[in-house]
Amino acid sequence: SIPVITVDGPTASGKGTLASAVAQALGYHFLDSGALYRATALAAMHAGVAETDEAGLAAVAAGLKLRFAHQQIWLGGVEVSDELRREDVGAMASKVSVWPAVRAALLQLQLSHRRLPGLVADGRDMGTVIFPAAQLKVFVVASAAVRAERRYKQLISKGISTSIDVLRTDLEARDARDKSRSASPLKPAEDAMVLDNSELSVDQCVAKVLEWWQQ
Ligand code: C5P
Repeated sequence: SIPVITVDGPTASGKGTLASAVAQALGYHFLDSGALYRATALAAMHAGVAETDEAGLAAVAAGLKLRFAHQQIWLGGVEVSDELRREDVGAMASKVSVWPAVRAALLQLQLSHRRLPGLVADGRDMGTVIFPAAQLKVFVVASAAVRAERRYKQLISKGISTSIDVLRTDLEARDARDKSRSASPLKPAEDAMVLDNSELSVDQCVAKVLEWWQQ
């Protein structure tokens, strides 16, 4: 069967960086499932579909014209990689993703990324719901303070001014929403390996995951 490694965890835990580095090291495909929720959010914002309109949002998700190529994401012919990372798009994605119909609409698209020689999938429910048979499941955690600081440095380096306190409040609100929703709440799979990266470098985390994978 096609090998799958899942990397789940809360907002700004560094799971995306970790998952894409592991994919690169193994020559596997990489799925950033958050990008699908972000693309749904962005498309909904463009179409004027409200965050409360479950059926409308599910229709947007089902109709997404997404293309992944050369580390870029295209939505209906427009390159949106940077736009998807915007804080307002992330905030909308967090609200859009609570709806079961939206999650169902994105299921097949996620499964279709499982291709040879293998897949590393990053998200909230990769190990619990989307790829429950994955051979290795990693659940990344880091303190809220460390995560807020990392997000702060990322935004500042892009020339976006912000405050650590605002970021921390926002990421704690997103965590709370992810954990408390009824559909696919954020939690480690029973067989997940928990990786606290608060005091680890990216390279140390990648080495740890590759070590688990080789065992
Ligand atoms: O990981 P990222 O921050 O890009 O995800 C954006 C939002 O999409 C998250 O705040 C989360 O609520 C949601 N999400 C999800 N399930 C996933 C990936 C992301 O609910 N598998």
